[in-house]
Amino acid sequence: MAESKERHAVHPRTAVLTRGFDPSLSLGSARPAVFRSSTYVFSSPEAAEQAFNILGGRAQAAPGESVDLVYSRFSHPNAEILEDQIVPLERGAQAAAAFNSGMAAIMTALLTFAQPGDTIVYNVPVYGGTQHLIEDFLEPWGIKAIAAIAGDGDGLDRVIAEAENLSVVFLETPANPTLVMTDLRRAADAVERRVAAGKSRPVLIVDNTFLGPAFQHPLRLGCDIVLYSATKYLSGFSDLLAGVALAADPALIRKMKSKRGLFGNILPPDECWMLNQRLPTVGLRMNRQSKNAQRIAESLASHKAIRKVYYPTLFDDAEQKRIYEKQCDYPGAIVSIDLKGGRPAAFDFLRKLQVAYNAVSLGSVETLVCHPKSTTHSGFTEEEWATAGITDGLVRISVGIEDWRDLLADFEQALEGLPVEAPASEQESGTRV
Ligand SMILES: *Cc1c(COP(=O)(O)O)cnc(C)c1O
Repeated sequence: MAESKERHAVHPRTAVLTRGFDPSLSLGSARPAVFRSSTYVFSSPEAAEQAFNILGGRAQAAPGESVDLVYSRFSHPNAEILEDQIVPLERGAQAAAAFNSGMAAIMTALLTFAQPGDTIVYNVPVYGGTQHLIEDFLEPWGIKAIAAIAGDGDGLDRVIAEAENLSVVFLETPANPTLVMTDLRRAADAVERRVAAGKSRPVLIVDNTFLGPAFQHPLRLGCDIVLYSATKYLSGFSDLLAGVALAADPALIRKMKSKRGLFGNILPPDECWMLNQRLPTVGLRMNRQSKNAQRIAESLASHKAIRKVYYPTLFDDAEQKRIYEKQCDYPGAIVSIDLKGGRPAAFDFLRKLQVAYNAVSLGSVETLVCHPKSTTHSGFTEEEWATAGITDGLVRISVGIEDWRDLLADFEQALEGLPVEAPASEQESGTRV
């Protein structure tokens, strides 16, 4: 939507409530109306022609020019309002595109910037859907994919330097579910060194679902595109599927929108409206969730039924600590716990929960707990489980906005009576499970 007037620069929390939406275009309504129309009436045949020229990339809109809407698969008012209002939440962003799921944003980014014959580099573990898309669709389709193991900064530097025809570097950090972090500035520097050596410049894409937009700012660290499953923290209520892409360079978003028009995976008007309503509270929710999670993680760290708590403020690896402190404003709301009693203990724990829900997904106001090995990561091979640190006793907790004392009490009662040492067989063989 066109901005009604120039205003002074304001902070993101203010901009999300005051920018990108002009009440006069919604009959004076203080919050946006929903525009469900699939097609739009042109103001003149010339305006229709100009709108198609811009859509087709044959013309560029002049600054301040108002361009007629065409057809809702390309764009619609609620997508434009959402896209304008989300930009200030992502530091460094100048443009955004809304998609009908996180996977739609990821797929569209990869298919926009990588063609058969190209190479992409991605870190593992990565979201399961992303891994399937890369291994079961993009690779058979002719895109070479090289996996770099999260936490191995030297390995990532090396593949970025050496890969032939590299067109995309796709990173997700922190890794799910053990929160291993990848140094984004270091990856961006590796891309610059590659370009300085005369090789192709890959687009550096970051899935920022776990810590953004509140706590991690990849565009400020030299990354090109930030992607979200807006299904998670951005929407925050487990009642909406959506995805978003943001970039500092509007040309990258224009290219993705052009593919979005072909794929037909734009977020529809009602969902755009819902997601837009959630944006002003994402910072409030994430702050409360992160504070709750930190209190719970630190309280559980010494519990005798727990082998290890995975949480950024409890990192013991010096390099991981360094990345966390440099890259993230707050630790976030995902806590994973590894139970000494393995799978039976994990299942008992899940069965006994009375406040938290046993469900996949994350980022919602209610607390969600799952057993990754038998659910979100059940498709992994033994080797992939070992690399990703996914053990039989691992439980992932996405902490909500409930009173943290009730959550801690719920977890403590669910831990009662669970084994306080690993089964003898494991201790003898010394396997790290
Ligand atoms: C959930 C998730 C996705 C996929 O998003 P959908 O909205 O379910 O399509 C991608 N990346 C991460 C990190 C996720 O957690």
